[in-house]
Amino acid sequence: MALDDTAYPEIRSAVRDICAGFGGGYWREQDRRRRYPAEFVEALTKAGWLAALIPEAYGGSGLGVAEASVVLEEIQRQGGNGAACHAQMYVMGTLLRHGSDEQKRRYLPRIARGELRLQAFGVTEPNAGSETTRIQTTAVRKGDRYVVNGQKMWTSRFHQSDLMLLLARTTPYDELEDKTRGLSVFLVDLREAGDRIEARPIETMINHSTNAVFIRDLEVPLEDRIGDEGLGFRYILDGWNAERILIAAECIGDARWFVDKATAYAKERVVFGRPIGQNQGVQFPIARSHAATEAADLMRWRAARLFDAGRPCGPEANMAKYLASEASWDAANVCLDTHGGFGFAAEYDVERKFRETRLYKIAPISNDLVLAYVAQHVLGLPKSY
Ligand SMILES: Cc1cc2nc3c(=O)[nH]c(=O)nc-3n(C[C@H](O)[C@H](O)[C@H](O)COP(=O)(O)OP(=O)(O)OC[C@H]3O[C@@H](n4cnc5c(N)ncnc54)[C@H](O)[C@@H]3O)c2cc1C
Repeated sequence: MALDDTAYPEIRSAVRDICAGFGGGYWREQDRRRRYPAEFVEALTKAGWLAALIPEAYGGSGLGVAEASVVLEEIQRQGGNGAACHAQMYVMGTLLRHGSDEQKRRYLPRIARGELRLQAFGVTEPNAGSETTRIQTTAVRKGDRYVVNGQKMWTSRFHQSDLMLLLARTTPYDELEDKTRGLSVFLVDLREAGDRIEARPIETMINHSTNAVFIRDLEVPLEDRIGDEGLGFRYILDGWNAERILIAAECIGDARWFVDKATAYAKERVVFGRPIGQNQGVQFPIARSHAATEAADLMRWRAARLFDAGRPCGPEANMAKYLASEASWDAANVCLDTHGGFGFAAEYDVERKFRETRLYKIAPISNDLVLAYVAQHVLGLPKSY
């Protein structure tokens, strides 16, 4: 099979069919009103795409990251925004890999059917973003439960989740020799949390349901801890490669959308008596963006193949996320330049997509930290952070 933008044609065409019901006007309206695209997410859920990575034994489709990445790429390429629901695909990975049989049986089939939404992921805090091991939210064991106190920042899709995966400190930082230990992961049932958790929406540059979350004396039963106490950071790290690959695919979808849009406009817009695309100053940046996108896509496929074969893929997944987010940001700027003043008009969707794709140079991990990882773990340079 050719690993390019024709791979998995059936998945592409099925996702395109769904996206056809949610055109630019729909996304502009959600963006303008800062509204969660509930109907779009519902349509994807009903069609089973958000259960792509859940094994068939638990009611999912049992597909690989390669196939799942095509779903997200295609949403972005059609001008949509998969950020509203991409986490429903991958947050459950921590439960799948490290949860007990009982936890998996209890939750995964209902997540696969879309009855339970597990798409909130509480890791980042006001004082701990890139440096995850510094988180301060505590979970103190009291008999058969933990009592959680603290604050999370940027917890996206909180109000659109029934369950939240929460990383909290179970051993004080100063008592640890190995600072990557002492954190644990919990599956928090938000429907039962009542006033123990308060989420305050953060107004942002993009339409993204994200929140500051305040947790006061929240009781979490022991049975809702995932895996062993103290190994939570490792469990979360395990899930990051899948997330990086899926985000890379979204960026590639965005980049292709920008390149297509810029190309079409450069052919039709006539200035000084000829199409602007006849000028090398206009066509070369578009061609360069296309080349950068195709190159990033090769790294995405390499990472996805390794991941699906169960082989280590940290360098490839990180490099795919880096290359793809840089390519989509470059393509966004080229597309805006190509459109001149019209790029700023909302009805062209360029300014919306421009804002949306910018996120991926910063989140879920900033590209600086990706470079620090490559420098240290791939090239053997001294740790810089
Ligand atoms: C819209 C949005 C949604 C998000 N959703 C979630 C979510 O659902 N769940 C969640 O847990 N988090 C979420 N995040 C948080 C996101 O993962 C963090 O913003 C990201 O990890 C960066 O952390 P920070 O913002 O604290 O930046 P900081 O860690 O404060 O870094 C600030 C800047 O300094 C740079 N920097 C820091 N240290 C170094 C170094 N040693 N070398 C070079 N550069 C360095 C960084 O690259 C960055 O550019 C979201 C963020 C946004 C904006």
